[in-house]
Amino acid sequence: MSASRIHFDHNATTPMRPGVRALLENALGRPMEGNPSSVHAEGRSMRRRLEQARERVARVLGAIPREVAFTASGTEGNALALMGAFLGAGPTRRRVVLSAIEHPSLQRAADTLAKLGAEVVRVAPGRNGRVDADAFLAQVDGTTAVASLMWANNETGVLQPVDRVARVCRERAVPFHTDAVQVAGRRPVRLHEVDAAMLTLSGHKFGGPPGSGVLVVRRNTPFHSVLGGHQEDGLRGGTQATWLAEGLALALEEAAQEALQGEVPAALAALRDDFEARVQRAFPDVLALGAGAGRLPHVSMLEFPGIDGEALLIGLDLAGISASSGAACASGTLAPSHVLLAMGHTPARAQSCLRFSLGPETDAAAVDRVVEALREQVPRARDAARGLA
Ligand code: PLP
Repeated sequence: MSASRIHFDHNATTPMRPGVRALLENALGRPMEGNPSSVHAEGRSMRRRLEQARERVARVLGAIPREVAFTASGTEGNALALMGAFLGAGPTRRRVVLSAIEHPSLQRAADTLAKLGAEVVRVAPGRNGRVDADAFLAQVDGTTAVASLMWANNETGVLQPVDRVARVCRERAVPFHTDAVQVAGRRPVRLHEVDAAMLTLSGHKFGGPPGSGVLVVRRNTPFHSVLGGHQEDGLRGGTQATWLAEGLALALEEAAQEALQGEVPAALAALRDDFEARVQRAFPDVLALGAGAGRLPHVSMLEFPGIDGEALLIGLDLAGISASSGAACASGTLAPSHVLLAMGHTPARAQSCLRFSLGPETDAAAVDRVVEALREQVPRARDAARGLA
């Protein structure tokens, strides 16, 4: 990432933490690493390191080490969780309950399960992007194999009522999974606060290595892994990438410390609020989506009425600013975000939304630059949309 560019897209990925980078550089410099499953000395040494990384992750999350499986991504963790719990449930439990705003990795896993005979129920959020706990729980009954609700949404940053949903699912003996990919490092992620049976993390969202993730599956959760192999206590087969696990453990410890101390999240919330206030002063019709609901401190999803978000995104990119749009590339075309559609936006409104997500390195000067760029680009994008440019 060039120093002169401004990264306002931390929900897509985050810069790697210096300690993690040093750890990986060191690992790449070594000519030979063992397979943690081998019984010889190299294998045993690798196994020790892997288990140490697992213990560190378990300590941060309040899990026991055996419950922590390393994966290759948040996408993989989400798919394994939903499918594993469905396949592990008895034949009378065919229902899968998730929210309509889950990440595509869960939507896709649910579609796959529907092909295998699951009855998939998707619960819509309110207009503010928050799923109502009672509406969600109304769908969770004795025929439910698994329920999944994300801790915070990646597009709006809106926090979901996962503590209550986890508690009630536990009372009803329904395995509950939460996608905590966007929360780690921004808020403490502790399983004694949100009593989920399963939880997913992704390393590159909190300064860890891309291609690393964690799936926690708590003891006594009925689970049949779709990835065979003895590794990871049978939860996720496949030879482990030990250094990625070590990098993830280090990043998670640092991120958890920041979240616990609260200074970084508080500073981010102040910068984000200042950013939104200044954009709205410049363009009073701009809406901050989910602002009325509890949000992660660093996310701002803004709607610019009458603008093609993609054109504005390109304008910002040319000005050296990375943000993200309310549309995602699907099958070569730009499809409006399923999250915004579920919140009641029309496709046109969804396509006028841009997401800005700040990070620990964001400072007031970066906010100044983005506000200035928007002052210049928004009128241009508006003229272009009216066919004047
Ligand atoms: N879940 C959420 C909420 C996400 O935001 C993302 C990535 O954007 C994922 C899952 C997928 O994580 P990964 O990029 O590690 O596959």
